[in-house]
Amino acid sequence: MITEMFTANQLKKESPVFGQLSFDDHEQIVFCHDKDTGLKAIIGVHNTILGPALGGTRMYNYATEWDALNDVLRLSRGMTYKAAITGLNLGGGKAVIIGEPSKIKTPELMKRFGKFVHTLGGTYYTAEDVGMETSDMDTIREVTPYVTGISEANGGAGNPSPVTAYGVYMGMKAATKFAFGNNDLKGKRILIEGIGHVGEELVRLTSKEGADVVISDINQERLEKVAKAYGATIYRGNNLYAEAADIYAPCALGATINDKTIDDLKIKVIAGAANNQLSNEEIHGAKLQNKGIVYAPDFLINAGGIINVFAEIEGYNRDHIISKTENIYDTTLDILNKAKATNMTTNASALSIAEDRIAFRKKEVFR
Ligand code: NAD
Repeated sequence: MITEMFTANQLKKESPVFGQLSFDDHEQIVFCHDKDTGLKAIIGVHNTILGPALGGTRMYNYATEWDALNDVLRLSRGMTYKAAITGLNLGGGKAVIIGEPSKIKTPELMKRFGKFVHTLGGTYYTAEDVGMETSDMDTIREVTPYVTGISEANGGAGNPSPVTAYGVYMGMKAATKFAFGNNDLKGKRILIEGIGHVGEELVRLTSKEGADVVISDINQERLEKVAKAYGATIYRGNNLYAEAADIYAPCALGATINDKTIDDLKIKVIAGAANNQLSNEEIHGAKLQNKGIVYAPDFLINAGGIINVFAEIEGYNRDHIISKTENIYDTTLDILNKAKATNMTTNASALSIAEDRIAFRKKEVFR
């Protein structure tokens, strides 16, 4: 069971925003409400030192508003480091819309959300995330230019998910090289959790290379369809995290590496698309290191999507997108080697490189 949420006792109720455990010097948190459309959204702008904050909007039926706030704080922070480590001149932001997409999503609600994004005047650019589609970005584009991931038909770079999957595949191959001595996925047993936009493409790429792919999802219909299309095996057990395999690829929601799952893990490599895979970066990062599991930092290897959507702002072409995404292979290997040499966790090692870039830019801007 995925728990990305904080429990009530982890929140400081007397200090609901600045006292949140996930608050990390975010620049702006914007609460957006519209009674007519039923919109309840939160936009988190974490850091804009490198450029405007860019990050997707997640639409999700959060159990509580606290969970939504916690999610947007964590996700927007991750975007800052993702852009920084990928060498993009972008800051970090993210938005969440509270509610079950199939029940409350309407074009009116999307446009109302877009108008809130517009009020930020380009401090924050939105994009697609869980629960959103390229067509939603097209709808938002009707009311604001501060949106990326719009369809190719409307002049955008299209759905970023295949590029995200390609970057994850690059990161997975680099981590495989580090863990096994060569980057060949043929014959490797790979558990892919979540076979949505990104996960399905990752199933395609890894199956094509001859990996033994095992898939898991809460959507039975998708499982059957994807298994049939790529010859993958559907996981039928009741604890995926205890399944022995070479690689685990979290591609659903975050925080699946947590106190409940970490002791069970019987894999050598973790490389997936989900944001914030480590429930607690320090504790679980260190535990993975002690267990000898090679963790390819999520914000590094899932950057293909942001590379793709940034092309809409910068105007670079498809070849550039692909070559920048392929760079994820070298960057991942460098970071894994650096972490080993310095005895740091791989996550901390990647974060320190991203932080150095932001600090350097801050000095330039404010000197
Ligand atoms: P998606 O909504 O298309 O797919 C998510 C899949 O996970 C769905 O099939 C859903 O049924 C499944 N799922 C949900 N809860 C599950 C559970 N408890 N166990 C197993 N499966 C479950 O989302 P996506 O666009 O493929 O993104 C996947 C992950 O990658 C997300 O965490 C997202 O934030 C991250 N990510 C996506 C992109 C992108 O370009 N789409 C970029 C960077 C990061």
